Amino acid sequence: MKLSLSNGIFCKLRLDGNLTAVKQLGFQNIEFNMKSIKKEHDTDVYREQKALAASGLNCLTLHSAVMHVKDPIEVHQAVYYGKISLECARALHAPLMTVHSNVSKKLPRQVRERCLREVFDEITPFAKSLGIKLALENLSYTSTGFGKNVEQLEEVLHVIDPDGKMGITFDLCHAIETKEMDNLLDAYGRRVCNVHMANKAHKPFTQETPELTRFLNKLHDCGYEGPITLELEHKTPMEEIAKSKALFEKLLKKY
Ligand SMILES: [Zn+2]
Repeated sequence: MKLSLSNGIFCKLRLDGNLTAVKQLGFQNIEFNMKSIKKEHDTDVYREQKALAASGLNCLTLHSAVMHVKDPIEVHQAVYYGKISLECARALHAPLMTVHSNVSKKLPRQVRERCLREVFDEITPFAKSLGIKLALENLSYTSTGFGKNVEQLEEVLHVIDPDGKMGITFDLCHAIETKEMDNLLDAYGRRVCNVHMANKAHKPFTQETPELTRFLNKLHDCGYEGPITLELEHKTPMEEIAKSKALFEKLLKKY
């Protein structure tokens, strides 16, 4: 397993300062979160490419810009966010992009299905043409999006991924908050290709807990060797991030 940090935590900083902060903490790998880019700059992927090259960091994964469509009229915007994120993933040589279902949990089922189909009919072939794998993230009950448990994720995957090619980004914080950790691991353990690592409310783990140990053991038993991406609340102090990094450096030696 490879330790990584989501740079979304430094999204308030300018891009060069953002990546410098990641480096100062001693990380080598990042998940590039599209919220680190100001909206008016979101088509200038070369600036991100240059900043990443200058930092020497590896971009293991990219978190797509997300829109949870509340009305079919918003489909085009969700498609735009997905495609521009894929362009950025290509520029940063990220082989994997984390996506949400892109539909609001408030939509009626039939409309939800139509919106899911329309968004992913555009995004999935574009990702394929760029050689980038998509990984659907489990959401929390606080999210406006749809897809917090196995039943909901199965509905989404049935529409957007009938061939079972899509990966799963397992967000442990969301899984603990929804009390779905074991169900999600049983259903998707072998499809996981990225992990968002945090305790409830995206607080960092700074010591081992029985839940964390069970999670890592199960993941290891599924043969997981991918990123463990610390995805932390943006007010997390630097010392806490460093403590969490030290904890995972120690824990991941076992796996
Ligand atoms: Zn997440």
